[in-house]
Amino acid sequence: MKVVTSLNQTKLFDLSSCTLCPRECGVNRVEGQLGFCKEPAILYAARAAKLYYEEPCISGKEGSGAVFFDGCSLGCIFCQNHDISLGMRGKSRGRAITPSRLSDIFLSLEAQGCNNINLVTAGHYLPLVIPALESAKARGLAIPIVYNTAAYEKAEAIRALEGLVDIYLPDLKYKDSAIAAAYSKAPDYYERATAAIEEMVRQCPKPLFADGSSSLDAEDDRDDPLMLRGVIVRHLCMPGHVEDSKAILSYLHRTYGNRIFISIMNQYTPMPQAQKDPLLSRTLTEEEYNEVVDYAVEIGVENGFLQEGGTVSKSYIPDFDGTGL
Ligand code: SF4
Repeated sequence: MKVVTSLNQTKLFDLSSCTLCPRECGVNRVEGQLGFCKEPAILYAARAAKLYYEEPCISGKEGSGAVFFDGCSLGCIFCQNHDISLGMRGKSRGRAITPSRLSDIFLSLEAQGCNNINLVTAGHYLPLVIPALESAKARGLAIPIVYNTAAYEKAEAIRALEGLVDIYLPDLKYKDSAIAAAYSKAPDYYERATAAIEEMVRQCPKPLFADGSSSLDAEDDRDDPLMLRGVIVRHLCMPGHVEDSKAILSYLHRTYGNRIFISIMNQYTPMPQAQKDPLLSRTLTEEEYNEVVDYAVEIGVENGFLQEGGTVSKSYIPDFDGTGL
């Protein structure tokens, strides 16, 4: 007999009337209709390869096995991965793959020595990604699974990942609904993302590193042990929105303290498609970033990652050329 939760998940995962994410488009992706994420019920990915630009405890020396999926249910106008995040709307270079092929890709990344499997923006594909994960695990996949998301997801969709994902890597982008509406057409972003993060922390309530500890040496990140389990919330500081950044940090620290890590990022890169907005057409200033970091220190954030100079570059955008697919 089915229990209520699995019935709910069946409805949640029915791509013939898609309500998988908070957009609740209701389109029939199985028949090729496209909703906001602009992806049908076929997996499209743009790259599956080692990635070295994540936090040191994720990338390590051997790299994180990142699989970049096409499309996105948030669709920020400043997105660095614009070529693929627009899905069928943009210059998508994705390739169609089956869940069975995706399962093989996971195992291949593990065989290449990757420290983990890093699912980049997979939320709109969960009904196809979950079977691929289950199949790969049944065939021996043993490295941690990282779920890398803009966090505009339903908490019940995240609940379906329990036992499959080891490390959650969500963004928490904005608190102010006007900013979320202007930049991502998602005025309810903060409510949705914080509910999703709450579910992630419920599943992974405490960090665990390969040396058995739950914290990192604050002075030296060169030999950070790899993270095995936990939640790292990323916040990309936006030009002109220091107060919103402070509100995000205040919420995260007040709610979770040292049970999560917070990654405070300065790498906002003005992309051509965002040039019309005067704030989005410039980089973050050093003063803005320092003000946010000083605030984090002031309120007592200890488990944090900072970025130091030189990270604002389009060279950090990988080639979405089908590598590894
Ligand atoms: S996953 Fe895509 S089609 Fe489904 S509700 Fe979200 S944006 Fe719409």
